[in-house]
Amino acid sequence: MLSDEPDRRRATPRICRDPLSDRPVFVAPQRGGKPDDEALASRFGDVSSGPSNWCPFCAGNERRTPADVGRVPADASLPWRARIVPNTYPITTGQPAAEATDEDRAAGGRHEVVIESPQHHDSILAIEADAWRDVWSLCRERLAIIADEDRHAWATIFKNSGRKAGSSLEHVHSQLVAVDIVPPVIRGELATLANDTAVFPRLIAAARAGGRIVSERGGLVALVPPAPRQPYETWIVSEQPEPHLHATAAEQGAALADLTRDFVGRLERLAPGSHFNWWLHQAPFARSAADARMAAGWHWHLEILPRLSEFAGFELGTGCHITTVSAEDSAQRLRDAAL
Ligand SMILES: [Zn+2]
Ligand SMILES: [Zn+2]
Repeated sequence: MLSDEPDRRRATPRICRDPLSDRPVFVAPQRGGKPDDEALASRFGDVSSGPSNWCPFCAGNERRTPADVGRVPADASLPWRARIVPNTYPITTGQPAAEATDEDRAAGGRHEVVIESPQHHDSILAIEADAWRDVWSLCRERLAIIADEDRHAWATIFKNSGRKAGSSLEHVHSQLVAVDIVPPVIRGELATLANDTAVFPRLIAAARAGGRIVSERGGLVALVPPAPRQPYETWIVSEQPEPHLHATAAEQGAALADLTRDFVGRLERLAPGSHFNWWLHQAPFARSAADARMAAGWHWHLEILPRLSEFAGFELGTGCHITTVSAEDSAQRLRDAAL
């Protein structure tokens, strides 16, 4: 019915594009109802009751999330150690509307939550090393399925750890998003790669020469980039060209798990209780031979950004950042913070 159209439009996650900056904005009105820990505690128990009474991610509360789309172990008769579920408050829709303009259209894609432990931990450091490797293995499996769906332009995994990093639920989790646009940051990195096919090897070589390597394992390098936005910003970069995380060898997935755990341990020793974000930068999914050639020189990387100070007017208004610790000092302190 035509009269339902405005309601349906309001309920469907959409992408609008700012005409001046070309900046995409995801409009997801349902996320306005997204509860935080306090709201869940008062709805399902009382604030003083244990999280297993109210946290939707704790074992025993699976009915409070949608059914999982992936789990470890795969055998559903065994207790789960990690699971991936559709996000109840998605920024994308699985059924994009046919009508679309570049300025305002349905946001096709997937938005899922990776619940990284059945227990109510607030830090990945509480997860055993083997179980943490299983989490990354599950993520890689899910990313492979999403890549095969052949309708997404790009996908990522990101983590918001702590309130300053935008997290509303403390139970360890990350998010997986597939979208039908290539985000501006990725378009920018692709444009750099198009002009300089050796940009990634040079990034790694410069970090070696400049004393900015934090640690290395299994073909991955954890380095402080030359222009970190915050103290201790670190990127974990594939040494070999590899456009997508799901396509890498299993050993690299395990190395990524170990290096992320290692980094969070170092950060915790340097600045206890720090909040941080990380996000995966993969190449866009290739739709043509030209896309595939373009992506061939990409090295997937995970950018980890501690949130030690707030982004304010200068950062938001200019896209520039101010930091108080140089890249070289950040790397030295991170190396010294080894166990
Ligand atoms: Zn929980
Ligand atoms: Zn990047």
